[in-house]
Amino acid sequence: MVGTLRLELGDATLREWDATVLATTEDGIVLDRSAFYPGGGGQPPDTGVLLWQGVQTRIAGARKTADDVYLIPADGEPMPPPGTSVRGALDDDRRSALMRTHSALHLLNGVVWRDFGLLVTSAGMEPLEGRMDFDLPQVPDGFREQVQATCNAEIQADRQIVVRAMPRPEAFAIEQVARAARDLVPEHIQEVRIVEIVGLDVEADGGTHVASTRQIGNLEIVKVENKGKGFRRLRIRLTDG
Ligand SMILES: [Zn+2]
Repeated sequence: MVGTLRLELGDATLREWDATVLATTEDGIVLDRSAFYPGGGGQPPDTGVLLWQGVQTRIAGARKTADDVYLIPADGEPMPPPGTSVRGALDDDRRSALMRTHSALHLLNGVVWRDFGLLVTSAGMEPLEGRMDFDLPQVPDGFREQVQATCNAEIQADRQIVVRAMPRPEAFAIEQVARAARDLVPEHIQEVRIVEIVGLDVEADGGTHVASTRQIGNLEIVKVENKGKGFRRLRIRLTDG
């Protein structure tokens, strides 16, 4: 298999493109070029549509293997045969909301790392709602309010969000990257994709992000849950700011 060129990794704003079907299998449809985010790092897959020869195939999700992205059609949708030229299009509302949410979680990660020294253990999201887990035995008074206010100040500062590839040694020389991701990036990966909120947060990450923090909108910390043994879960919600 030749492998799918991942268009969304280079341009998170792309919503429509032309492609050719490489394979149609029980696992899904493989294109030569795809902007469907296949899920990962807490960000769920995109949905959308393939248009070909007057036919529409609704795509309900996507999944990644080592080389390919499999697009999963909705139940009973027509399948384009290999060799078909298609036009791919993403559900823009969903993807744009997920980009805001993913960037919001990075911003939150940067704030709790900088201001409280907290290392996030996992994160997950749906459009405009996210959760972040970390260890914090004692929650300081006013923690929720302080983190929320700081996050919104950082959003208003409109910090740039930059995505770039970095040689592995250089990436892991950054303390925040090393502590969060050293065990997560396989040894053979020599170039690490880095997402940086300039001046605030640096993470090894494969997701899609907005270009600057003001695009996130207003961030509300809905609650700080106590999951026992110092394990906390912080839930956020975004509104238009
Ligand atoms: Zn991320």
